[in-house]
Amino acid sequence: MSHPESAQTLVDGISEWVRCESPSHDPATLRTMAELIATQARAAGLRVTVTELGEQTGPALVLSNRASDDERPGLLLLAHYDTVHAVGTLTQNALRIEDGKLYGPGTYDMKAGTYLALKALQGLTQPGDTALPVDFLLVPDEEIGSPWSRPLIESWAKRARYSLVCEPARANGGRCVTARKGTGHVWITAHGRPAHAGVAHEKGRSAIRELAHQVLALEAMTDYAAGVTVSVGTIEGGTTVNVVPGTARAVVDFRVPTPEAGEALLARIQALQPKDPDVRLEIDARLNRPPMPRTDATGALLAQVQALATQAGFTLEEAPMTGGGSDANFVAALGVPTLDGLGAEGDGAHTLWEHVIVETLPQRLAFWRLLLKHVA
Ligand SMILES: [Zn+2]
Repeated sequence: MSHPESAQTLVDGISEWVRCESPSHDPATLRTMAELIATQARAAGLRVTVTELGEQTGPALVLSNRASDDERPGLLLLAHYDTVHAVGTLTQNALRIEDGKLYGPGTYDMKAGTYLALKALQGLTQPGDTALPVDFLLVPDEEIGSPWSRPLIESWAKRARYSLVCEPARANGGRCVTARKGTGHVWITAHGRPAHAGVAHEKGRSAIRELAHQVLALEAMTDYAAGVTVSVGTIEGGTTVNVVPGTARAVVDFRVPTPEAGEALLARIQALQPKDPDVRLEIDARLNRPPMPRTDATGALLAQVQALATQAGFTLEEAPMTGGGSDANFVAALGVPTLDGLGAEGDGAHTLWEHVIVETLPQRLAFWRLLLKHVA
C-alpha cells in the first residue's frame, strides 16, 4: 500500500517534538511541549481541551473530533508527553539518524507513537470520518506514576467504548500489549534504639540488622511461576559508623499479575513482624497501578486491530504479559477493552540509545488511520 507521507516528513515532525525536551519534573518545559501539540491539533481543526493539573506539572490535553452533541462512548486514545530524560540529554543522545534508526530522548517512549496517532487524527477531524468519536488524552506525568492525571484518565475511561494506547510497540517485531502486571511500592522503616557502638553496644537495638531480615523476607516473596516479583530498590540507615543505628528504611517495588495476587501479597507484606521484639516496623504498602487483565473483550478488540494491521501491510502479534505498567492499567481496570503498545517500533526506552525505526513510520501511520476510521 502507498504511504503519502514520506518517512522524512514524519522524521521532521517527530524531531521537532523531541527537540522540545519535556521531563516529568519540569513544569515549564512540559507547558511548552503541551502548547506545541495543542497548536498543531488546533491548526488541523481538532477540538482541544486543556485541563490544568497544578503548578508541579503540565496540563492534560484532550484532542477530539467528537461533535458537541455526540454522547456515544468513544475511542479513547491515550499518550503521555513527558519523558524520563532531563533537559540537556539531547547533548548526550543527539537527535540523529544512524543505520535507519532515529535516536533521541523520548523518541521511542513515546513521542514518535504519539505524533503518529495525532497525525492520523489530523486527517479525520470531522465527526463522520471515524466510526466512533475519538478523544485523544495526553498527560504530563505518566513516567512518575500519573499522580496528577489519574482522576482525569479514569473519568475519560468511564466514557470510553475502547482504549488504544500509543506507548511503544515491543522491541523486535513491534508486538502489541494486551496485559500488564499491576505495580506497587512498599516503604518500610525499622525503628530501633541508638547506642554507642563500643561503650554500650548491648543497650542498642540495630535498625539495620532488623531491616536486613525484612529485606530477605520481602525478596523471598518473589514467585516467578506465579508472575509475582518483589524487589528492594533502595535502602538507607544509620547515622555514623560508631553508633548502633536507630533507624533504617527501604523502598520496594512489586509487580502482580492479577488483583487477587495483589491483595494476597499486600496482606503478607502488612503481616511482617520484627525479628527483634524491641524494634518497631512501620510499613506502608500500596498498589499504584492495578493489573491490566487480558479479557475476552480484549481478545475481540485485538482481532479487529490485527485485521487492520494486515490491511496496513504487516502482521501484528501479541506480546506476553509485561511487568511494566502504564496508564493503560487504569483504563483497563475499569473494564474498558484496552490495547497498548500500538506506538512506534524501536527499542531502548528510558536509555541513551532510545530510537525508532525510520522505515516503519509511514506504515504505522497508515495503521493508525485505519484504527481511527474503523475500530467500532
Ligand atoms: Zn511511556
